[in-house]
This record gives sequence, C-alpha cells and structure tokens, in this order.
Amino acid sequence: MKKIGITGGIGSGKTAVTDYLEELGYTVLDADLMSRALTAPGGKGIPYIRKNFGDQFITAEGGMNRSKMRDLVFRDKSKLELLEKGTTRILVENLASEAEKLEREGCEVLFFAVPLLMEMGKLSWYDSIWLVTASEETRIKRVISRDGVDRGDVLRIIKRQMSEDEKKKLASEVITNDGDLTELRDKINELLKKYHLRDYHEDPDVISKKKSNL
Ligand code: ATP
Repeated sequence: MKKIGITGGIGSGKTAVTDYLEELGYTVLDADLMSRALTAPGGKGIPYIRKNFGDQFITAEGGMNRSKMRDLVFRDKSKLELLEKGTTRILVENLASEAEKLEREGCEVLFFAVPLLMEMGKLSWYDSIWLVTASEETRIKRVISRDGVDRGDVLRIIKRQMSEDEKKKLASEVITNDGDLTELRDKINELLKKYHLRDYHEDPDVISKKKSNL
C-alpha cells in the first residue's frame, strides 16, 4: 500500500485537496478528526490524560475537559509539552494501526491529512509527502472569509507554525494553491499521473466500487 501524507499550514488548502481526493474515490485518514476522537469519551488518549493530569481533567462523560486543559496549557508551557508529547505519540500509533487495518482490507493507496506532519517527525514512514502551500496573503484572506476571524489571529498562528521554506525542503511535492479550485484539481490530477495512481474520474465503475467499500 502506498502511503501519501498531505500537509500544509493554516488555510493552505489541505482540506480542498483531500476533499477532491475523496471525491475521486481515495481513502483519506484525517489526523485532526482522529486526534479529537482520541480525547473524546472512551478515546485511546484518555488513560494518558488521567494519568498525567488527573481526574479533574476528565468530564463526567469520560472525555478530556477541553476548556480546562486549554486554560492550563495556555498558562504552563511544560504542561503543553506534556500534553503534546503524549497525544502526538498516541496519534502516530493510531494512524499506523488504522493504516495497517486498511491495508489488510485491501486498500492500495492511502492518503493522510496531517497538519503537523513535518513537526511530528517519522517522515520516512510515508512513501511521499505532498505539501500544499499558498502565499501568506492568500492564506490570510481565505481563513478570514472561512472562519470570520481577524487578520491578527491568523498571523499569530502562521508565525507559530514551521516556515513554508523549511517545509518545502522536507516535502516530496509542493502544490502551490494560489489559483482557483480548478487549477488545484488539475495539479492533483498531474500528481496522480506522475505517481501512476488512477484518476478515478476516468472510470465510473471504479468510483462506485471504491465508494461502496468505504
Ligand atoms: P486549516 O489548516 O486552517 O484547516 P486547510 O489547509 O485545510 O486549513 P482549506 O480549509 O482547504 O485549508 O482552505 C481554506 C479556505 O480556502 C476554505 O474555505 C477553502 O474552501 C478555500 N480554498 C482553498 N483552496 C482554494 C482555492 N484554490 N480557491 C478558492 N478557495 C480555496
């Protein structure tokens, strides 16, 4: 099974890329969704939270108390590191076990949407890493119109993230998403060709077969 990681900074267009890949019939594992599930009631990350932060950080329903945790890690950097260390390890393990499961079920190509892929390390685990990028101004405008936040909020997040130049050095492919969605889709189609992956648009039978297997 080929494992392809999709990453990029805030507002770069990762979701636009993975939405298109899913539309084509590919399977995508979303690290953000998985991360949230790991600290939801019954999640695999809950024992770590309980052990390292105490019962007061667990809600009555058995999930992580997100607002309480947010307050704590905002005040105390060492607690933020403790939280990130544990949750990142559990996320990486979970991504690997889900990937193994999908491979056993016959999945041939698996995409991963991982915003902090470069920061998390283990880059060699992926067969290829595709970085989605766009100019800072484009990203700011897109996030403002998507989330209704102000410019300062987006800039603060951008400044905290690894720089685009550093990420470009680690990426196998760079998808520049400064144009419209048609241009983005054309770039994805080109990459699928380059990697000898099917453009499922060409074969409606394959699309419906793949979708029914999900
Ligand atoms: P985040 O890391 O913040 O979740 P992301 O990298 O997943 O962001 P998207 O949500 O895909 O980014 O894109 C940000 C916004 O820009 C969305 O509203 C999306 O619809 C829009 N967008 C993305 N690419 C394009 C494009 N090429 N043309 C027009 N709008 C776009």
